[in-house]
Amino acid sequence: EPGCDKLSSVAVIGAGAAGLCAARHIQSRLNIFAPPVVFELTENVGGTWCYDERVGMYDNGHPIHSSMYRNLRTNLPKEVMMFPDFPFESQLSSFLPHQEVQRYLERYCESHNIRPHIRFNTVVETVKPVVVTMEDEETRTTRTTWEVTSSDSSGCQKTETFDSVFVCSGHYSDPNVPDIPGIENFKGKVLHSHSYRYAEPFSGQSVVVLGAKASGLDISIELAKVGAQVTLSHSRPPLTVPLLPGIRQSSPVVAVDKSGCIRFQDGSVSSADTLMFCTGYNFRYPFLDSAQLSLEIQDHVVSPLYRFLMPPAFPSLFFIGICKMIAPSPTSTIQFALAVLDGSVTLPPRVQMEEEVHREQQEKIERGVEQRHLMLMEQEQWEYCHTLAGIAGFPPLPPTIRSLYEEVEPFRRRSLRTFCSLGQQQGAPLSPVRK
Ligand code: FAD
Repeated sequence: EPGCDKLSSVAVIGAGAAGLCAARHIQSRLNIFAPPVVFELTENVGGTWCYDERVGMYDNGHPIHSSMYRNLRTNLPKEVMMFPDFPFESQLSSFLPHQEVQRYLERYCESHNIRPHIRFNTVVETVKPVVVTMEDEETRTTRTTWEVTSSDSSGCQKTETFDSVFVCSGHYSDPNVPDIPGIENFKGKVLHSHSYRYAEPFSGQSVVVLGAKASGLDISIELAKVGAQVTLSHSRPPLTVPLLPGIRQSSPVVAVDKSGCIRFQDGSVSSADTLMFCTGYNFRYPFLDSAQLSLEIQDHVVSPLYRFLMPPAFPSLFFIGICKMIAPSPTSTIQFALAVLDGSVTLPPRVQMEEEVHREQQEKIERGVEQRHLMLMEQEQWEYCHTLAGIAGFPPLPPTIRSLYEEVEPFRRRSLRTFCSLGQQQGAPLSPVRK
């Protein structure tokens, strides 16, 4: 366990897809690494895929983690979502109900014997770097270790030291709620999609849904199916996907007036029973002190992260799966991180890493990328993964993952989930790639 012999010790925060994958790859290098210590806030593996009907807080006062809703189906095919070395069961269709992803992650956990290394119901409270400087007459070297303080379900607190930390705590848990002037005047119910589970309680209601990306569209359709009148408010060009009769589109919500009515950008006004924010999630790492790590952590950007993975000042702290709009398997970044730790990849000096991150960000900003989209990767992801594999010497992602991802992308952009649910309702084929 931590610090044993001369093996390198790793703390993994979270037992969702990323944490399980990190643990699996550490387990396969037990000649270099000590068995991983995985801290998990809940009593289950699976992270966001572990559906939890509760909303609000757990008994221990921490916010409920999972944002899963009861009828969610994946919007990527299982062949893209899988860890490349661990296929889903072949008889399953390509687009899965969330329960199947959860079952898959449980199977992965058992197959790689990860469970004994997970400390369930244990929350990481702080992660602090401890920098030790060693000097002799000629040389001066520094070494960073990490003090990880966690508390278990009985409230018992423990601080342990590790050589490195993998942050696998997820990025879809902390609701992003835009500031709407006058929202305090709204007399109905206000909630974020993070706390939405199923549509029945909204039957017969008028609901204004803010945001028309995957969950906004998906939830609007669920609501319309149970007879809610949905106003889908968004700033995108009018959607051309077929929507159900109970859904109308509108411009963005700009305010709530004194009488409690919702005001839209085009000047129209409407009353509603519920205002539902489908406005995405923030980055949130309550256990890190950003100033101490020389990091800027904002709602949508963590910077600087060399190769979207580690702070140049502390290259033994790894943020796994932080980029958006990418194929989900974190295998490449985890393998790269482990290659940094085992010495098979030599990093440039800190200043050079910082300059490189800065230069890449500047280039994006000059191309017109908004600051809050600096961690969206999209097309860049393939070259990124290829580069990591080339430098660290592990096999690149199979090309079929890219081709399948690109094949479903047009449907995904128009919300594949919408497409699926309409298809199911009208008896049409679900998608061209569904088996
Ligand atoms: P998570 O699954 O969030 O796991 C993080 C884990 O860390 C949790 O178990 C949590 O309890 C634990 N944790 C957090 N903080 C602490 C702490 N301080 N101490 C200890 N433990 C902690 N991806 C797809 O590929 N296809 C889809 O169709 C898809 N649909 C999605 C739908 C929804 C509604 C959401 C929210 C996400 C969806 N995603 C989808 C993205 C999905 O989140 C990722 O695919 C992936 O599961 C993320 O895994 P993760 O391990 O990074 O994070």
